[in-house]
Amino acid sequence: GTAPVARAPRHADVARLLPGPSAESDKYRRGVTGVAAGSARYPGAAVLAVAGALRGGAGAVRYAGPAADAVVARFPETLVSAGPPSAAGRVQAWVVGPGLGDDRAARETVRDVLAARVPVLVDADGLRLVDVERVRSRTAPTLLTPHAGEAAALLDGVPREEVESARLSSARELARRYRATVLLKGSTTVIAGPEEGPVLVNPTGTGWLATAGSGDVLSGLVGSLLAAGLSARDAAAVGAYLHGLAGRRAAPLAVATDVADALRPVWRDVA
Ligand code: AMP
Ligand code: MG
Repeated sequence: GTAPVARAPRHADVARLLPGPSAESDKYRRGVTGVAAGSARYPGAAVLAVAGALRGGAGAVRYAGPAADAVVARFPETLVSAGPPSAAGRVQAWVVGPGLGDDRAARETVRDVLAARVPVLVDADGLRLVDVERVRSRTAPTLLTPHAGEAAALLDGVPREEVESARLSSARELARRYRATVLLKGSTTVIAGPEEGPVLVNPTGTGWLATAGSGDVLSGLVGSLLAAGLSARDAAAVGAYLHGLAGRRAAPLAVATDVADALRPVWRDVA
């Protein structure tokens, strides 16, 4: 097809989309974010995804998986369970993938989450375990958040450089193939849906975000925005925008924990 048109979200658009409580709010109505992430090997990814989810405007975060002890030690406000995500109780959106590994349990977790009738964000290890037909046949929105290497693997193993040199059209192609919204991460993060129309280009990035675990924080944050009721495209745009500002605010030498901590002052400034 023709090359997609690029558009940058404006500050005012982001401010208008930020979820906030009203007089009628309770924690369930504000949205419950489910996080299915982490493994015995990578418990930190679960903690960082939960950190992002707690700062995304939903009312509560449910964690399901093997890193429950690590999660609740760091964030006692998290509702945790060790069983499959589908047994964890109601959520308005799921985040699946960070630090999940690629064993049978991980594969079953991804399958279980994709069967949920709520929006699902798939990131990191989850992207290696998704089945294209299973994603295409979902009725609720799916959001994929690959970096260039993960996107290249999803596009049948094209060279990573090919994705890097054609980021907008690669994101669009992935979105079409999976009938999903795609947030393609990198030095400029872009967001594409499967339909015609502009691809969003995030204007707030910083190289300080190139640090271990910062992608996991983004996943949780965007998942929480989904749970709060934003569309996949809006959640991706708002999440990438805030994440970039948080990276800038936490710089220099920001680590992923600092990025998550910077989300509150950034939110206050944008709102
Ligand atoms: P991941 O690839 O999952 O570790 O996520 C890394 C995060 O850092 C994503 O949000 C990227 O968009 C961001 N990032 C990585 N490298 C850069 C860069 N050079 N400039 C701006 N953002 C970056
Ligand atoms: Mg990652």
